[in-house]
Amino acid sequence: MELRLYDTLAREKRPFRPLDPARVRMYACGPTVYDFAHIGNARPIIVFDVLFRLLRHLYGADHVVYVRNITDVDDKIIVRAAEEYPDRPLNEAIRAVTEKTERQFHEDVNALGALEPTFEPRATEHIGEMKALIERLIASGNAYVAQEHVLFSVPSMHDYGRLSRRSLDEMLAGARVDVAPYKRDPMDFVLWKPSKPGEPAWPSPAGIATPGRPGWHIECSAMAWKHLGETFDIHGGGIDLVFPHHENEIAQSRCAFHSPAMANYWMHNGFLQVEGEKMAKSAGNFFTIRELLADWPGEVLRYQMLMTHYRQPIDWTRKASEEAAAALDDFRVSTAGADAAKGRIDQQIIDALADDLNTPQMAASLHRLLGEVRKDDNQPACDLRATFAFLGIELDRVNLQEILKRQRGGIDEGKVVSLIDARSAARKARNFKEADRIRDELDGMGIELEDKKDGATLWRFKR
Ligand SMILES: [Zn+2]
Repeated sequence: MELRLYDTLAREKRPFRPLDPARVRMYACGPTVYDFAHIGNARPIIVFDVLFRLLRHLYGADHVVYVRNITDVDDKIIVRAAEEYPDRPLNEAIRAVTEKTERQFHEDVNALGALEPTFEPRATEHIGEMKALIERLIASGNAYVAQEHVLFSVPSMHDYGRLSRRSLDEMLAGARVDVAPYKRDPMDFVLWKPSKPGEPAWPSPAGIATPGRPGWHIECSAMAWKHLGETFDIHGGGIDLVFPHHENEIAQSRCAFHSPAMANYWMHNGFLQVEGEKMAKSAGNFFTIRELLADWPGEVLRYQMLMTHYRQPIDWTRKASEEAAAALDDFRVSTAGADAAKGRIDQQIIDALADDLNTPQMAASLHRLLGEVRKDDNQPACDLRATFAFLGIELDRVNLQEILKRQRGGIDEGKVVSLIDARSAARKARNFKEADRIRDELDGMGIELEDKKDGATLWRFKR
């Protein structure tokens, strides 16, 4: 078994060779903390958590370092803070927004079964590293000062644009470039900018008198450098980050360290749509993780996410949530009482994940293992439990009937039972018309019936 990962930079699946197998290093871009994370944000969290678990399995839990940052200085945060706490000083309002949002984010990703990353650095705690990088880039001729800004000079890097492989015109359109008078070239991007009065501000680098704040891209170069070094193994994120964010991270880090690579493997998860449409608040199909967790255990959302290969676009549908819940419920019931501690992680699952995280193949193998459980002894059930634990899925938290009951909170169970009694009486009296009418009434309430041979009638919530 060999781990192979698709590298966006090489445009192919490559065998994974860490720089140091005793310290495998991975970075993934984390959230900007100004609002609840949406279900699209959950995708990289889950995908790179699965990769983190796989690397820990292959190299040992103590030999993998995973960094996922928190962006806590950003225009969106400043705008939100001013809206939400108009009476407080801006810096205090910003702290209130970022602390609250960070707490919500942690609750959400815990519910999704994601392990804590090894380090979770905050941008505002790495201003010193950002300024050191900026000074290096100025010294090497890759950055310049203009009107109290520091800009990265894109033409100074001869192979800028290798990750996204776009033409200059496409890059200009994609970056929604501000044509600013202080830029030497329209593609140049901000490393540091002056703060407006009241905004978060730090003493500026490069002898600039006005206090300022960092651009977004420099944050990740600085935090990756601090915790993982000048060059590391894997850099991940959503496909929307390839350009300009990751392109610019590469430019900053490679030029600052005169190195051929920032990371040796660049991995990107595909887009997420909802019910076949682009997710948008205006379209009414915008879901936060928090909203979905009100309807489904995090295990269901996690398993649903893994049903689609991470590089494919995913269509997030309610039907797929139900199918994921039904599948996990089936696994739970079939392996009830089996002890994960007595099981082994199934090698076919590892093999599937080692093939560029082939999670659809993984699911097929889980179902094959389920087929063995139904035959005889207890070992396959223990193995399945151990495998689900490895995947971060606690089966005992997924009970489909309890989920459906919670979702249809308004149902009067006493009324259901008395309707079933009335139907049994009608059947006894051979009044089948009335019995059918009652069954239809229950059906309209989302209840389905099962008549047992002994005359009893079971009921459950319909999917
Ligand atoms: Zn980043």
